[in-house]
Amino acid sequence: MDHALRRFRLARRLAELDLDVLVVTRLPNVRYLTGFTGSNAQVVLARDGDSTFLTDGRYGEQARHEVPDVGHSVYTAGYPRPLIEAWRSLGATRVGFERKGLTYEQWEQLTEVAEGAELVPVGAEVEALRITKDPEEITLIAAAQEAADVAFERVILRGGLREGRTTEREVARALDAAMLDAGADERGFETIVAFGPSAAEPHHDPTDRPLSRGDVVKLDFGGLMGGYHSDMTRTVAFGEPDVRLREIHDLVAAAQRAGIAAARAGASTVDVDAAARNVIRDAGHAGEYPHGLGHGVGLEIHEAPFMRWDGGVELAQGAVVTIEPGVYIPGLGGVRIEDMVEVTADGCREIPRSTKELVVL
Ligand code: ZN
Ligand code: ZN
Repeated sequence: MDHALRRFRLARRLAELDLDVLVVTRLPNVRYLTGFTGSNAQVVLARDGDSTFLTDGRYGEQARHEVPDVGHSVYTAGYPRPLIEAWRSLGATRVGFERKGLTYEQWEQLTEVAEGAELVPVGAEVEALRITKDPEEITLIAAAQEAADVAFERVILRGGLREGRTTEREVARALDAAMLDAGADERGFETIVAFGPSAAEPHHDPTDRPLSRGDVVKLDFGGLMGGYHSDMTRTVAFGEPDVRLREIHDLVAAAQRAGIAAARAGASTVDVDAAARNVIRDAGHAGEYPHGLGHGVGLEIHEAPFMRWDGGVELAQGAVVTIEPGVYIPGLGGVRIEDMVEVTADGCREIPRSTKELVVL
């Protein structure tokens, strides 16, 4: 990963924002800019690209290995003194802060003691840089997905579901373990497993509910590799499902195909959302699809860009986004199909290889 290039790109933005420095406090952004993987660090980045990396005593040694190319400062005082000293040593007076990177309490503490500096709230500048993935990031996301593809095949397709004996929690644990066996560093987020009527909840905490014949089984899971996530949803059936769920599976699959067909560099996220949403609306299920079409995936499981019916942005080439329409019928069940795609100049490339047919087990 070329962290220096990323810092250089961000530093160029500082001139446009008329900032002397930007204080980066969101941890995924610190990782993006430096490679640091610990749980507490900040970066004070100056307009000329000069930076100070701050962390506490637990991470001084780790930071020397992981962040060899930036000046370090290990805290000798409590927050917010180290930040103030860092920007003063860079001679800064107009100081940007990430709007989403401080609690209100931290902001209050900072403004109490930051005499002489003009504090400027700054939006999602680093997140905007993170949208376009470089080839190494795509490789890690694909590797995290490969672990999930292997887990799906081993746990679900090769007969891991048994009537009356398998529970949602057991399937979730088996998927998590299989992803680790397949090489994932960790699971990327809490695995969703929903049987039968529980599949009508878009998100569902796995329970001890046993599997029954005729249940749909909705699975939303992903791995983590080198800090990068994967995210996939599959809905299969244990025995022949209710005919209405078969129709809904066909409908959601058609909506997903429409969304994938619409995704290309330069397309508006609102238009891509609408391409899929209109298929579901035209079939009379608009009210049963209560969420956006998808989201970016990277160092965070949910990151920019967000694809919804509002707040449109242009899709960037090299973005990795999910396309995940769903239809949920209370009392009956639900279907979601989710795949990550890499946005290209003239379309997009699907990253998972797992089948998305309605597999009946
Ligand atoms: Zn998901
Ligand atoms: Zn998702």
